[in-house]
Parts: sequence; structure tokens; C-alpha cells
Amino acid sequence: MLTIFPEMFPGPLGLSLAGRALEDGIWSIAAVDIRGFATDKHRNVDDSPFGGGAGMVMRPDVLDAAIRGTEGPGPLVYMTPRGRKLDQALVRELAAGPGVKVLCGRFEGVDQRVLEAHRALEVSAGDFVLSGGEPAALLMLDAIVRLLPGVVGKQESLAEESFEWGLLEYPHYTRPQVWEGRPVPEVLLSGHHEKISTWRKRQAEDITRLRRPDLWDRYVAASKVSEG
Ligand code: SAH
Repeated sequence: MLTIFPEMFPGPLGLSLAGRALEDGIWSIAAVDIRGFATDKHRNVDDSPFGGGAGMVMRPDVLDAAIRGTEGPGPLVYMTPRGRKLDQALVRELAAGPGVKVLCGRFEGVDQRVLEAHRALEVSAGDFVLSGGEPAALLMLDAIVRLLPGVVGKQESLAEESFEWGLLEYPHYTRPQVWEGRPVPEVLLSGHHEKISTWRKRQAEDITRLRRPDLWDRYVAASKVSEG
């Protein structure tokens, strides 16, 4: 993790499932302070943009030194709204790899040349603008870490989740059986596993069709292919 705010890590990833896995050594994180690689006496990491305009840009020489000075396998990932939007497919790919070196931008962003020189994989948390890459990096790492073997107890609880079938998740219910006059769907009390799983699949399909026509179209196309 390359950042000017190393105190932000592991942050929320030090708690709960990811935190336990971190203690157990299933994954590890090194938060490297980019400022440690600045060469002037004020430890500046940014400068004004060529061409003018508001804001500051992170310097390529300082970033390059920080990237080179940081051990660890895996691709350099730069968090940016301009990147490939993070999705479960990319999360799975990164979780299967040897690790990641994540560059968190601040200010207006980073000098383009350092991204090119290191062939950075640019990843976006979504179509909105954060004040820095750190929250986006935490989000991405959370999604990666929970896929690592031994982090989530029951592997089945991963298999049935949103996106793993290309569908959004069906609704969940727990006790009380009737809450404020609202009963849980009858079928879930039946003990009939096949009926329950058919009902859940149907619910997942309905909610996906309504909320995410983009996912639905892909799902329909994929089902046609698998049916031959
Ligand atoms: N000038 C940039 C925004 C800068 S925000 C633009 O218009 O696109 C400052 C930093 O926050 C960026 O360098 C980037 O590292 C990070 N960031 C902001 N929004 C993000 C997002 N949606 N996903 C990932 N990183 C983001």
C-alpha cells in the first residue's frame, strides 16, 4: 500500500473477518508512506500541474522511488475513477494472484508518466469522486481478502452470494417468524429444500431483472449458451 496516510491501514481491515485473518497470517499488508521517498527538505510529494489549473499533482520521481522501494509481488494497481470498475470478476482474479501493490492517489491525482512506466492496472471503486484512493483501496482489499482460503468459514456462504451466479441475492429472513405483522414467506418454513432453492433462485432472478437489466441480459445470454 503506497499512501501519504499510512495510518489509514489496516484500519477497518484490522477488525472482524479480515482482522482475524490478518492476525492468523493468511494475508498481510505493509503501508508505505510515500513522503518517506521525497527528496526535498519539506518532503513534498506534489507539485502544480503543467498547463495550469487548480490543484496539485503527485510527482512521478517520488512515486517511482516509492514503488521501486516497496517489496512485494503482484501488479501495481492505481485507484482512480478513470479505471476499470471494480467487480467480482476482477476481485476473484486479484484474489487468485500473488498479491497487489496499491497506489493511492491524493490531490488531483498522479503524473501520467509514472502510470505508464509501471504499466499500472487502473481500478475504480465506482462512478463518484473520493478525496483519495485509500477508501477505494480498503474496499478492494476487503473484497479480495474474504475470498482467500480460510477467511470465510463456510465456503458455501461465498458460493451463493450476489454476483457469483451473475445474479443479485435473494432476500433473507430470520427470527421472529412474524415481525410487526409481517410473516416470513411460507415456503421457507416448509423444510422442502428443493422448493426453497427454486424459490430463492426465482427471487434472485426477479430482483436482478428489475434492478439490474445489464446483469440480467448477461445472465440470460450465459444461460442460453450453457443450455447449448
Ligand atoms: N481529478 C480526479 C479526482 C481526484 S480525487 C478526477 O477528476 O478524476 C483524488 C484521488 O482519489 C485520485 O487520484 C484517486 O486516487 C482517488 N479516487 C477518487 N475517486 C476514486 C474512485 N471512484 N475510485 C478509485 N479511486 C478514486
